[in-house]
Amino acid sequence: MSGHDHPLAPGETLRPVEEHARRVADLITPPEPERVALADALRRVVVDDVHAAISLPGFDNSAMDGYAVRAADVASASDDAPARLPVAADIPAGRTDVLTLAPGTAHRIMTGAPMPAGADAVVQVEYTDGGTESVDIRRAVDAGTSVRRAGSDIAAGDLALAAGTVLNAPQIGLLAALGIAEVTVPARPHVVVLSTGSELVAAGEPLQHGQIHESNGAMLCAAVTAAGARASALHFVPDDVDEFRAHLDAVVDSADPPDLVLTSGGVSAGAYEVVKDALVRDDVEFVKVAMQPGMPQGSGRYTTASGRAVPIVTLPGNPVSAQVSFEIFVRPPLRAALRLPQERPRSTAVLTDDLRSPRGKRQFRRGVVETAPDGTLRVQPIGPPSSHHLRYLASANALIDIPADADDVASGDTVVVLLLDD
Ligand code: AMP
Ligand code: MG
Repeated sequence: MSGHDHPLAPGETLRPVEEHARRVADLITPPEPERVALADALRRVVVDDVHAAISLPGFDNSAMDGYAVRAADVASASDDAPARLPVAADIPAGRTDVLTLAPGTAHRIMTGAPMPAGADAVVQVEYTDGGTESVDIRRAVDAGTSVRRAGSDIAAGDLALAAGTVLNAPQIGLLAALGIAEVTVPARPHVVVLSTGSELVAAGEPLQHGQIHESNGAMLCAAVTAAGARASALHFVPDDVDEFRAHLDAVVDSADPPDLVLTSGGVSAGAYEVVKDALVRDDVEFVKVAMQPGMPQGSGRYTTASGRAVPIVTLPGNPVSAQVSFEIFVRPPLRAALRLPQERPRSTAVLTDDLRSPRGKRQFRRGVVETAPDGTLRVQPIGPPSSHHLRYLASANALIDIPADADDVASGDTVVVLLLDD
């Protein structure tokens, strides 16, 4: 039985969402930072300030395809009276020898090629006849024209990226330009995902009556990966305590142990609640959280037969409960370990329909946020509150966060939304 709206036993209280979030956060120890190649650095954070060891550009070079000249030699050039100069050298990009421009001559030069000593400007090819033996130059240029000075972008010793900067494409480009092939970033927490349920059958396999396709494992692994952490899916297990522990022991005692075990299912109020039953001997607390969906939660430490302990968070089995619980309790500490923003962007939006919410529970409803033609943000609730409606979660782009002390919110009310962008 897994209806999640059980009445409370006398004296039983619900744990506030924020308190359970703190408990889960306290469990997770960030792994040590690691050095990674730039190819593995995307959406990670530099742990230390990064200084430029070289200048960019590293040498004076041409900003144009054209001719390197002394500005004085073309000072009187015009369409009517071009300056004709012998072309004494040809400098494609990548030429590594050091050239000197003799007065009264030009060097043909390409964008990015090193300026010859003695030249102080480049005349772009469009203002010339493009000659290779000699060139007719039809424009005068000031000294410095179309020359990119060494260090004009960043000088050696300058701060290139401050500690805490997120590495997206431009930052990775800058590091590569500076010749930096590896950076130190927070290691990705390793999260092992284990789904439980005797009714579960892998996607792609045929179903018998009463069976369903396993979906929490795929979904939670994707959520872990999207958060920036590293997911391993453990083959899901039937509702069998010994099998559950055997699977966990094998992975926790392996050469690649998890920083966190994430289970789903088996924590509700029914019989055959395998996760609860399997963890009675562990330091794991099962609680009811004042939240809908996602009331039954567990967290603590699992210890293998060989004595190795690992943090464990046990999420409820209903897919929407599992995913929303991950959002609220697990994603923030994973992001914190990665030194990435923990919170989803929050905004206020105008509700387009009435909603009922259970008093005493913080409710997260699925919503579609849109900007109205007048520029206001609106949110349309979609799907019923019950937590098997994965389809509506899959069409939502936001969670509507209705506080525990609210019971009715009406169309036109302003509500808080968490914007889900992945
Ligand atoms: P439980 O908490 O184990 O009683 O599960 C609650 C509901 O979620 C039941 O309808 C289960 O069949 C379903 N459920 C549990 N785990 C999964 C899973 N990994 N994938 C899909 N549905 C699940
Ligand atoms: Mg189950």
